Amino acid sequence: MTITKTQIRAWLIQLDQVYADNKTYLTELDSPIGDADHGNNMARGFKAVAEKIAESEADIGTLLKTVGMTLISTVGGASGPLYGTFFLDAGKSASNKEALSTSEFTLMIDQGIQGLVRRGRAELGDKTMVDALSPAYDALRASFEAGEGLWASLAAMVAAAEDGMQATIPMLAKKGRASYVGERSIGHQDPGATSAYLMLKALAATVMDG
Ligand code: ADP
Ligand code: MG
Repeated sequence: MTITKTQIRAWLIQLDQVYADNKTYLTELDSPIGDADHGNNMARGFKAVAEKIAESEADIGTLLKTVGMTLISTVGGASGPLYGTFFLDAGKSASNKEALSTSEFTLMIDQGIQGLVRRGRAELGDKTMVDALSPAYDALRASFEAGEGLWASLAAMVAAAEDGMQATIPMLAKKGRASYVGERSIGHQDPGATSAYLMLKALAATVMDG
């Protein structure tokens, strides 16, 4: 089983629609514990991404790096450089690739998350996007290692991202703007963990679509 350049490009373009549809939702989540801009940030960033790569025939590494640079240059706010680094570093592991094996795909996600964590220094439990991404990666790798197929592994990844997103509700924020509100961050779902879940859900859906 491989994941093709066409699937990766379709996913990245689909994210424009995903974040347009969820703009209000993400901004509402960013209201009580942030500055009510996460939906706008994601929608603006991925609209620019879709415009940049719509006609692109570039390899997977180049596509992902273009996404990273576009997010860094169009998204003000913490999420721009963080997701930007995710895609830049994911792209480094996929240089010149037209398709990814399951292990190359897992490595791509791993490298992206490692880059994001190096940049943002958030740990598990800090109430950030890492709380959705990191368990999702662990579930993906565990599922592949258990010999499960691509679809089952992607489904496990998405389920873990959703659980991780929901697990941010009772957490006390320790990074980013939400940490400024201290105890009042408890009881609210993290916007970045939510956009990360939506990102992985769209990835699984696009790959399963063909
Ligand atoms: P800003 O906080 O600058 O307004 P956004 O609203 O677009 O940026 O993004 C907020 C999200 O960014 C948070 O919900 C959180 O998930 C994520 N975030 C903030 N700081 C960090 C960090 N240091 N590491 C990982 N994620 C972070
Ligand atoms: Mg914000």
